[in-house]
Amino acid sequence: MFALRTDLNPHVVVIGGGLAGLVAAREVVRGDPGARVTVLEATDRFGGKLRLESVAGHQVDVGAEAMLAVRPEGVDLVHDLGAGSDLVTPATTSASIWSRGALYAVPRATLMGVPAVGAEVSGLLTVEEAARAEAEVDWPTGAVADDVSVGDYVEARLGSAVVDRLVEPLLGGVYAGRAGELSLAATMPALWQAARAGESLRTVASRVLGAGSAPGSGRPMFAGIRGGMGRLPELLRADLTGGEFGARVWLRENTIARALVHHDEGFAVLVGPTTDEEWLEADAVVVATPAPAAARLLTAVAPRGARALAAIPTASSAVVTMALPRAGMPALPGSGFLVPGVDGHLIKGATFSSAKWAWTDALSPELVFVRASVGRAGEESALHVADADLVAVCAGELGEALGHRLPAPVDSQVQRWGGGLPQYVVGHLERIAAVRAAVAAVPGLELAGAAYEGVGIPAVIASGTTAGRETVQAVRRLRRTEGE
Ligand SMILES: Cc1cc2nc3c(=O)[nH]c(=O)nc-3n(C[C@H](O)[C@H](O)[C@H](O)COP(=O)(O)OP(=O)(O)OC[C@H]3O[C@@H](n4cnc5c(N)ncnc54)[C@H](O)[C@@H]3O)c2cc1C
Repeated sequence: MFALRTDLNPHVVVIGGGLAGLVAAREVVRGDPGARVTVLEATDRFGGKLRLESVAGHQVDVGAEAMLAVRPEGVDLVHDLGAGSDLVTPATTSASIWSRGALYAVPRATLMGVPAVGAEVSGLLTVEEAARAEAEVDWPTGAVADDVSVGDYVEARLGSAVVDRLVEPLLGGVYAGRAGELSLAATMPALWQAARAGESLRTVASRVLGAGSAPGSGRPMFAGIRGGMGRLPELLRADLTGGEFGARVWLRENTIARALVHHDEGFAVLVGPTTDEEWLEADAVVVATPAPAAARLLTAVAPRGARALAAIPTASSAVVTMALPRAGMPALPGSGFLVPGVDGHLIKGATFSSAKWAWTDALSPELVFVRASVGRAGEESALHVADADLVAVCAGELGEALGHRLPAPVDSQVQRWGGGLPQYVVGHLERIAAVRAAVAAVPGLELAGAAYEGVGIPAVIASGTTAGRETVQAVRRLRRTEGE
C-alpha cells in the first residue's frame, strides 16, 4: 500500500471529473509542486454538466450554456486558462415569461422574481394580483426565525401570483425546483436577511437592485465562451495534461469510484468492475461527485455526513436542442423565455441560442439553434417518453409561444440529465453544515461540487478551488506530522 512519506510526493485522488473535480485537481498541482493527482471520472468524458454535442454537424452546448459574470470566478478561470479572448457576452439578455398564452418581458426591477417597489408587472400579473403584491403584508410572526420555503414566504407576503408567475419560473431556470420546497435561506440570501429582520421584501429588492449587482448596473450580468461553455472542461483538461502539470496528473475516464476507506496511512479508493477490482492509495481525497454518489462514497469514512448528503433531493431534466431551417422561422424575441409551471406546459424554458450568442448564429447561414428545457422537480414521469416525442412536444409548445408553427427541425438532440440538479430545500444550510462538520473530522478528505454552496458555474469553481486549497494544506500538515 502506498503511504505518505516525507521523501515521497503526495498522491491526491479526485473523484468526479466535472467542473468542481477538474478545478480542485488543478488547484492541488498548482499549490503543491510535488503533488501527484489522479482524477477518476465514471463516464467516458470529463466535464459533467458542461458538455458539447453535435447537432446538424455543429458543436453546441447541451448542458450549461452561460455563466454569471458578476461573480468573478468563471471569467477569471477562463482568463487564467489563456482563453480570455474567447469570452463573449450575450447579444441579447432580454428574456420573457410565457404566461397565460402571451410572452411578457421579465420585469427588470425584480430580484429572483420578487418585484422591487414600482416594478412594472402589468400584463404578467392581473390588476388584482399586482395590487396584492403592492400591499405587501407582514409574515404572521413578523420576523422569521427558521428557514422557510421561498414559495410559502413570498406567497404569504406578496400573494400567490408573484410566486407562480415570477419567482417559480426564475427559480426553475436555476434549480429546476419548486418554490414551495426550495429554501429561502439557501437560494435567496438577501431576501432571507430581510425575512429575519422583518423588513419589506420589495424594499430590499429595490435596495439590492440599486446596489448594482443586477441588470441595469452597466456590467454584463452573464458571459459565455465562444464555441460553448462545454469548452471549459476541455481547456482545464489541456492545462492539466499538458505543460508543467502533465507529468503529475492522471485523468482516468470510464473509472467509477465504488468505495472509499480511511486507514492509518491515508485513503484507499476502490475502482473497476467487481471482476477486476483495483485499490488506489491516496494521501488525500477530494469527492467531487453529485450528492447521491458522494453519500455512497462517504458511508464508511464519514457516516453522518453520508446520511445528511443522502437527504439532498435532486431534480431530473432534459435539454432538447433543435436545428431549425432559418427560412420559415418567426422572429425570435430576445434570448428566450421561462414558463410558469401552473400553466401546465411541458417545457419550463427555452433559449434562442442563435439570437443569444453571436458564435452560434454564425455556425450556419441556413440554421437557427433553439433549445428547450424540460422537467421540474417531482415531475420525473414527464420525462419518461421517447426522444422523438419530447422533440415533437417541445417544437409544438415553442411554436405556440411564438404564435407561429415552427418548421420541422433539420436535426435535434435530447440530452437527459437524470438527477442533474441538487435541490436546496428548506434546511439546506444546516444539512450542509452537518456534512462539512462530519468531513472536517477526517483529515485529508474534502468535498466539492454543486450540492453545497451554489449550483452555478462560478460557485462550483469556488467550491473546487477551496477543496483544492484545503487539500494542499492538509497534505502539508500530514507531511509535517510524518516528518516529526
Ligand atoms: C441542464 C443544466 C443546465 C445548466 N445550465 C447552467 C448554466 O447555464 N449556467 C450555470 O452557471 N450553471 C448551469 N447549470 C449548473 C452547472 O452546470 C452545474 O451545477 C455544474 O456544472 C456541476 O459541476 P460539478 O462538478 O459539481 O458536477 P458534475 O458536472 O455533475 O460532475 C460530477 C462528475 O462526477 C462523475 N461521477 C459521479 N459519480 C462518480 C463516481 N462514483 N466515480 C467517478 N466519477 C463519478 C460524473 O460522471 C460527473 O462527470 C446547469 C445544470 C444543468 C443540469
